[in-house]
Amino acid sequence: MSNSRRTFAIISHPDAGKTTLTEKLLLQGGAIHLAGEVKARGQARRARSDWMKIEQQRGISVTSSVMTFEKTAPDGSTITFNLLDTPGHEDFSEDTYRTLTAVDSAIMVIDAAKGIEPQTRKLFEVCRLRSVPIITFINKVDREGRACFDLLDEVADKLALDVCPMSWPVGMGGLFEGILDIATGKVSRPEGGSKEFLGKVDENVTLPEDVGEELELAQAGYPEFDLEAYRSGDLTPVYFGSALKNFGVAELIDAIAKYAPPPRPQPTEAGPVEPENKEVSGFIFKVQANMDPMHRDRIAFMRLVSGTFKRGMKLTPSGLGKPIAIHSPILFFAQDREIADSAEPGDIIGIPNHGTLRVGDTLSEKNQIRFTGLPNFAPEILRRVALKDPTKTKQLRKALDDLSEEGVIQVFYPEIGSQWIVGVVGQLQLDVLISRLQAEYKVEAMLEASPFDTARWIRGSDQALRDFAEFNKMNLAKDRDGDPVFMAKSAWDVGYQQERNPDLTFSATKER
Ligand code: GDP
Repeated sequence: MSNSRRTFAIISHPDAGKTTLTEKLLLQGGAIHLAGEVKARGQARRARSDWMKIEQQRGISVTSSVMTFEKTAPDGSTITFNLLDTPGHEDFSEDTYRTLTAVDSAIMVIDAAKGIEPQTRKLFEVCRLRSVPIITFINKVDREGRACFDLLDEVADKLALDVCPMSWPVGMGGLFEGILDIATGKVSRPEGGSKEFLGKVDENVTLPEDVGEELELAQAGYPEFDLEAYRSGDLTPVYFGSALKNFGVAELIDAIAKYAPPPRPQPTEAGPVEPENKEVSGFIFKVQANMDPMHRDRIAFMRLVSGTFKRGMKLTPSGLGKPIAIHSPILFFAQDREIADSAEPGDIIGIPNHGTLRVGDTLSEKNQIRFTGLPNFAPEILRRVALKDPTKTKQLRKALDDLSEEGVIQVFYPEIGSQWIVGVVGQLQLDVLISRLQAEYKVEAMLEASPFDTARWIRGSDQALRDFAEFNKMNLAKDRDGDPVFMAKSAWDVGYQQERNPDLTFSATKER
C-alpha cells in the first residue's frame, strides 16, 4: 500500500544532532539494536550480503544514502519510513539540494542553544520551493538552551512560517524534568529524575507554576495544529526533545506516521502523476559515481513515483529513449542491503549503470512521462577554469559536461570569450572537481577568480531575450542545456537588471 510509506529527510546545520537523531530513529524503528554498534554489526552483516559485493566490486559507497525502517502504528498498521540522507557541510553540494526533491516531508532539527543557523535556513528554502511540509524538532533540551518562546518566535520570523508547539519542555538543562504533550497534558519524565531518560509517562505530576503559565501563553499565542496548513508547508508543528538521551524521538516518529504526507503526486507538463497510477515511473535525483576512477560504474538513485516496481522490469529513461532492463536494483534497508524484488511509490531504488542515467531523467514503462521540478540551484561560488595544457580543451569540455550531468558542478559557457566558468554551492565540490578532472580525464586544471559573483537563469520572450542580449553580451552565458544565464557581478546587479527588464524573469533556480 503506497500510503504506508513516509519518505523524508532531516535538514539541519552541522552539529545540531542529525546523526544522533538518525541513529535514534533507526533504533526506534527496530532497524538496528544499539546505536553505538551500528558500525561493527553492520559490517559483519553486510559482508554476507549481495549488496556488499556490488559495493566492493564497484567501489561505490552508498552506505547511508537511504535508510529504510518500519514501525507498527498504534492502530496495528505497518508504516515504512524511507529516510534520505542529506550530507552535512563537509560534502555539501547540489546533491543535498536535489535529495530534497525526492522527499515528501522533512524534519528540521534545531539546536536549542543556537536556533536557526545558516544551513538550516538554506535547506529550508529548498523545501519551501516545493512546499515540502516540515516538522520541527528542537534538540538538546537536556542542556541549557534558549527560552522556548524565543526559539518558536525565531522559527516563525526567520522562516515566515506559522509555528505550533506540540510539546513543551518542563525545565531545560539541569532543571529539565520532562516533556509535556500539549494535546493530552501528559508529562513524560526521565526515570528517577536521573539523566537516563526512559520516557516514562507520569500523569500525576503537578506542573511547576511557571510552566503552567508558559503553557497558557503558548496556547494563546500560537495557532492550533492544522493538518492542511502543515501539509501545504505553511505551518510547522514543533516538538522538543533530546536526541542524545533518546527523549521525544518516539513522539517524533509518531508525528511523521500520523501527519506527514504519504507519497505525493509528481508534476509533469501534462499534469501530475498519481502514486496510484499503475504504470511504473520514477525519476533520478542523484547519481553517485565510483570512487575508483578505473571503473565508470555509477549508482543512480530513483524515487519511485507510481506503480509497483518488480525486479527485471524494463524501463525507458527519458534521456535515452531505449528501454533498459533493471536486473539488479538495490533497495536500502538499514539492517542490510537487499537486492530489491519489488518496490512501491515513495521507495528509492539504486540502479547500477555505466553513466547512461542522469540526474533529472524520468524512467517509465511507456516512455510518455516527463517529470518536471528537479531544479538546478544558483551557484554560490563561481570560478574560471584554466588549463595547464591548452591542447586539452576538448577533454575539458567533455569532462565539464559529464560532471555537470552528474550534478558535481554546474558549468556556464560565456557568449564572449573562451573561459568556461564552473559554479558550485559548496567549496568541497571544487576540490572534487579538480581531483576528478585529473584522475578520470587526465586534465590538469586550475581554478581562478571569476569576474562574476552569482548567476541567474533568464526567461522571457525571444524578443525580450534578444533585446537584453544586445546590451549585456558580456554577462551572458549558456548552461549545459544551452539555456541562457545572466552572470551577475553582485546581487545588486541582479536586482538592477530585474528592475530594468520587467519582461524577463531572473531565477535562482532552474527546473529541468
Ligand atoms: P550532526 O552534525 O547534526 O550530525 O550532529 P551530531 O549528531 O553529530 O551531534 C553533534 C554533537 O552534539 C555530538 O557531540 C552529539 O553527541 C551532541 N548531541 C546531539 N544531540 C544531543 C542532545 O540531544 N543533547 C546533547 N546534550 N548533545 C547532543
